[in-house]
Amino acid sequence: MLAIRYNNRTFFGLKTVVNMPITSQTAKILDGLEVSAAVLTSVHEAIEAHVQAGGQRPGLAVVLVGKDPASSIYVRAKRKDCERAGIQARDFDLPAETSQAELLALIDKLNHDDNIHGVLVQLPLPDHIDEVAITNAISASKDVDGFHAFSVGRLALRQPGLRPCTPRGIMTLLNYYGVSAMARHCVVVGASNIVGRPMGLELLHQGATVTTCHRFTRDLEFYVRHAEILVIAVGKRGIVDADWIREGTVVVDVGINRLDNGKLVGDIDFARAAEKAAWISPVPGGVGPMTRATLMQNTAEAAGIQVPEPKQA
Ligand code: NAP
Repeated sequence: MLAIRYNNRTFFGLKTVVNMPITSQTAKILDGLEVSAAVLTSVHEAIEAHVQAGGQRPGLAVVLVGKDPASSIYVRAKRKDCERAGIQARDFDLPAETSQAELLALIDKLNHDDNIHGVLVQLPLPDHIDEVAITNAISASKDVDGFHAFSVGRLALRQPGLRPCTPRGIMTLLNYYGVSAMARHCVVVGASNIVGRPMGLELLHQGATVTTCHRFTRDLEFYVRHAEILVIAVGKRGIVDADWIREGTVVVDVGINRLDNGKLVGDIDFARAAEKAAWISPVPGGVGPMTRATLMQNTAEAAGIQVPEPKQA
């Protein structure tokens, strides 16, 4: 039996490749840290070449309303990513009492600001503000989160523009390792507007047969057992039992859960799922960094800069 080390843990079994079913195996890692670094390098190089050729440096407005601790951490990380990618971040830290009208007025100003190519409003917003109204007020051409109805509609119609960051980041991750969804049965567990639904559209766009599961799905186990690529995006630890994974499945875990001991984990038991999966993304270090890097990629693209997709050397 072979053993591999990952994240200071040892996994036992035989390494294998997709579509090569054997009775015992250890999954290869869909390494979001490695791939996001490659995306950020690609974004940085594309931006510097654009600026050297006389182009404008992309600008991203990062709007934070209130002081939600998790949101503050995410926003700080995004501002750091901007530095790494060569994007000019402009910060708008607003008090929690900011009215919806005031926020809409700011968005309108940013929509008309030629130095701003992307507008990001960190969610969740305080309860008195309608998130849908805010998301759809951002100019579709500056919608770098890809949450605007127009952006998701374009994806649904096979005319992708700015694509939601998490699903796009997952596609980049899979493509980097040569994992294709073409003609595969892909099961997405979770159907939210920002992850599950656009994830299904991305996979469909690549030629997959897609099943989307949600809280009204009867017999989740049945669908999971028939998944060749499984994306889990619910935010409930154990929603998918690792025993349901069939040999050779590709498992992408989007969920983020904090255990009582403070440790961050995904929706599935990583170690047990890795015994059967062909590929698996860890939490942390999988989808999270891909989402952040994709935001930078979208911002560069909103500024008219094409960013080549990184591929494994
Ligand atoms: P969300 O808006 O709460 O959506 C959760 C989805 O799970 C909903 O579509 C819900 O179905 C579905 N669901 C709930 N119970 C279910 C059940 N018993 N069986 C099947 N489906 C069920 O969450 P989200 O924003 O999509 O995020 C999901 C998870 O991913 C969270 O842990 C979040 O923190 C994480 N996340 C990670 C990243 C990243 O970059 N790593 C990015 C975004 C989100 P209904 O639609 O029927 O309610």
